[in-house]
Amino acid sequence: MSNMQAVSGTSEATDVEAYDVVVVGAGFAGMYMLHRLRRLGLSVRVYEQGGGVGGTWYWNRYPGARCDVESMQYSYSFSDELQQEWDWSERYAPQAEILKYANHVADRFNLRDDIQFNVRVEQAVFDAGTNAWQVAISGGKTTIAKYIVLATGCLSNARVPDIKGLSDFKGEVYHTGHWPHEKIDFTGKRVGVIGTGSSAIQSVPVIAAQARHLTVFQRTANFSIPARNAALTSEERAAIRTNYPEIRRVAREEARNGIYTDLPDRGALEDGDNARRAKYEERWRRGGLTFMSAYNNLVVDQAANDTAADFVRAKIAEIVKDPHTAKLLQPHNHPIGSKRICIDTDYFATFNRPNVSLVDLTSDPIEEILPHAVRTVAKEYEVDALVLATGFDAMTGSVAKIDIVGRHGQTLNRKWAEGPKTYLGLMSAGFPNLFIVTGPGSPSVLSNMIVSIEQHVDWIADCIAHMRARGFEAMEANKEAEDKWVAHVNEVAHTTLYPQANSWYMGANIPGKPQVFMPYIGGVGAYRRICDEVAAKGYEGFAMTAAEQSRAAAAS
Ligand code: NAP
Repeated sequence: MSNMQAVSGTSEATDVEAYDVVVVGAGFAGMYMLHRLRRLGLSVRVYEQGGGVGGTWYWNRYPGARCDVESMQYSYSFSDELQQEWDWSERYAPQAEILKYANHVADRFNLRDDIQFNVRVEQAVFDAGTNAWQVAISGGKTTIAKYIVLATGCLSNARVPDIKGLSDFKGEVYHTGHWPHEKIDFTGKRVGVIGTGSSAIQSVPVIAAQARHLTVFQRTANFSIPARNAALTSEERAAIRTNYPEIRRVAREEARNGIYTDLPDRGALEDGDNARRAKYEERWRRGGLTFMSAYNNLVVDQAANDTAADFVRAKIAEIVKDPHTAKLLQPHNHPIGSKRICIDTDYFATFNRPNVSLVDLTSDPIEEILPHAVRTVAKEYEVDALVLATGFDAMTGSVAKIDIVGRHGQTLNRKWAEGPKTYLGLMSAGFPNLFIVTGPGSPSVLSNMIVSIEQHVDWIADCIAHMRARGFEAMEANKEAEDKWVAHVNEVAHTTLYPQANSWYMGANIPGKPQVFMPYIGGVGAYRRICDEVAAKGYEGFAMTAAEQSRAAAAS
């Protein structure tokens, strides 16, 4: 298919670009999707809202931003040369280095030619007559594509809270997920941070080191494990590189969350108190997300979970000197791990600094923002700058911003009004040839995102190759297969403790959003096997139609 077609029929012939595939987003998913599709010989256009590649790492430039999965694992595995040659400087690379890596990948694989930056996809409308999508982008242009792949990211639609008076605040306001490109210096300033999720937990220690005073406004205390970040030695890098085949295999096939670690062989209550404490101590010393892999039942058994939660609460009490502050920082309203566990560098110890204070919003909620202060029910806190670490409209937010119109004029937003419905997280019935990377219904945010991204992109590329080789024009999830999958995702979630938390996994952070557990919790290995089996059975649960069939169906 050529890239440019003259479409006539109006008084003036309009130039409309046409591609085999439009990919939305040039983060890690969009970049790899482009790479794979190009190798199939397809014409591809990637539209990216930002001014550069990197997705989440392009936008999240807040102080202290770094990955919470070790960089030697949070990196592409599709090119052995790339993984052997790229030198990660630290165990958890800072945002700037991850962005540099994304740019390196874009250059190395010559991706930029097919990416258009600073462009928003506004609308995508399926035309059943041609089995193609008409994609309207910012600036008023329309592109036609046979396939559309949403690589829009799960945490890219920043949520600005609806707090009275916020727009009248006269100081600086920043959202962690939309941080300015220039360096922000808080030296000498009184700063307020609203929120205590991962973004706040990473930024609070760094802001505290600069600011005259930092006030942290906490609604929900969070569990956090020390990152134990450190420079990587060349010996450590070499050891991982040598073992990459096995590390990547275990991450893909065996570890539920796509992270290589020594996998647990027993439940927490099978060990006695001393052995269990020793195990948690060892994981705490080691640091990182794999704390939750100490035992195999921490997210399914409340009593087991309590032992890990108690351990972390005791650690908080040990670290934080003021007992009242320590108590406020100890989470009590959700099982450990049921909200994305945070990892930090000196977060709890930061509350020992004389220039840092904690406000508990559960007992003293924010009433309004004044021009120079945050006013709670009890008190006014003067601030020069406000940092909103208030999260994202996760998983569905960036998809919902695009007006996606499928068969018979049905919009995806209307279809998902009660919660997202997908088959395997990859497609939604009624929206042919539209794929979603790491969408709701897939492990995505419960996993090392790059492992899940590579799996989805490979599956989608293989699927498109399959269709082209057999002359299929359109592919669509069957409604029955989708209903069964949605029920399965839900059922598996409810065998765990996850739904007990008011988390963004449940959509609970967005007022009015349906409360449905969105990601698939069955684990990346099990999920991969299901997707592979579906493909091996000729894409079971999907309908594929040849050109003539679909035209006949559209006409009837
Ligand atoms: P988040 O986990 O959703 O946390 C948002 C915080 O803001 C919560 O503490 C929330 O309180 C609070 N909040 C929201 N609205 C509020 C309001 N109106 N008043 C007071 N407090 C309010 O968002 P996040 O920290 O940006 O993290 C989101 C996800 O991004 C993480 O879970 C993680 O998956 C990813 N992330 C990863 C990294 C990394 O790789 N290192 C770093 C940052 C983020 P409630 O809990 O009470 O709602």
